Amino acid sequence: MRPSEPIAAMPRSGIREVMELANSIDGAIRLETGEPNFNTPAHICEAAAQAAFDGFTKYTPNAGVMPLREALAAKVTERNGIDATAEQVVVTSGAVAGLYSSMVSLVDPGAEMLLGDPSWPNYAQMMQLLKITPVHFPLRAEADLVPQAADVEPLITERTQAILLNSPGNPTGAVTDAAALADLMELARRHDLVVFSDEVYDEISFDGPYTPAAPLDTDGRVITFFSFSKTYAMTGWRVGYLVVPPGVSPLIVRAQEPITSCVNAPAQMGALAAVTGPQDCVAEMRDAYRQRRDLVTGFLTGRGIPHVRPRGAFYLMVDVSRSGSTGSTGKDFVLRLLNERQVAVVPGDTFGPGSGRFVRISLATAPDLLMEGVARLADAVEEWGG
Ligand code: PLP
Repeated sequence: MRPSEPIAAMPRSGIREVMELANSIDGAIRLETGEPNFNTPAHICEAAAQAAFDGFTKYTPNAGVMPLREALAAKVTERNGIDATAEQVVVTSGAVAGLYSSMVSLVDPGAEMLLGDPSWPNYAQMMQLLKITPVHFPLRAEADLVPQAADVEPLITERTQAILLNSPGNPTGAVTDAAALADLMELARRHDLVVFSDEVYDEISFDGPYTPAAPLDTDGRVITFFSFSKTYAMTGWRVGYLVVPPGVSPLIVRAQEPITSCVNAPAQMGALAAVTGPQDCVAEMRDAYRQRRDLVTGFLTGRGIPHVRPRGAFYLMVDVSRSGSTGSTGKDFVLRLLNERQVAVVPGDTFGPGSGRFVRISLATAPDLLMEGVARLADAVEEWGG
């Protein structure tokens, strides 16, 4: 069958490509995906199983069940400083579906949307499907990969309708500071841009709390995306949620109708147990990721391998340019590492056109495998550098 034009034009995510290749290599060390090595806590599984046994297995309202929306409104008010009511919360099939429904609802085909280079590849994929033009702004090492309004402003045209921010960031691990965020919000107001703020790693900030965008919103232009995937090790459950300014949720709910209709009913009850139940698991996982961050950065620093020290999320960018693999050849390094050293990492150029000198590793892997993989990566950078 002939693929449609948008699907034929959409680039594949380099993360998934490496994942598929690594599946065929026995014993490969998997540092490519953002998949927590923890299991979903038992009380969450029990709540979902009980809901299914109790017959809570039908369609729910598109925006999610009210007790969950209410609990999430309380959560974002208390933990993210976003003063929201349940009406402003929409439960989505992972943050990914929330992002897609929001782009469909709020950005026109033919418009331009700003995003960082590097950034999570699914954003640009969604834009491509929706005929929105992705325009990358540089995230500079000198600014700790934090977006700077001065780098964004020159890229704004009369077609620019929205900007995508992501803090704590994937793949950068950067956490946008309050001053940079205030400048970006001011820029968005001046150019009338919708701000998509992806905060799915809100609970994974290592050096103090991150700064959410919505509390800096003075005129109703910020949509914030959250997820259960990373916070509670629930990637396969597919539950996320978004928070919008008052009155905007019916738009998103309307877009959600033909795309996902509603989120899996028992999974919503698992999510309710997650957000209202004990939160120790969240801190335990964050502490484990922080320890791994410290182990890996200590090791790479000791070996003299340049990298970006993450302040949040659970990824780390390693500069492999010394191995001779830069720009479009970054992929060659990744393929060679997989074939010759059995370690799967993601090529930087999947995150943006200017990020080819990096590879991304995930700290969500168990520490013994993580350190073995990082040691093999460091050996490869040194040996192949000549
Ligand atoms: N946003 C970012 C920055 C991510 O890294 C991910 C997943 O890797 C998502 C969104 C998607 O999360 P979900 O599993 O909730 O769809």
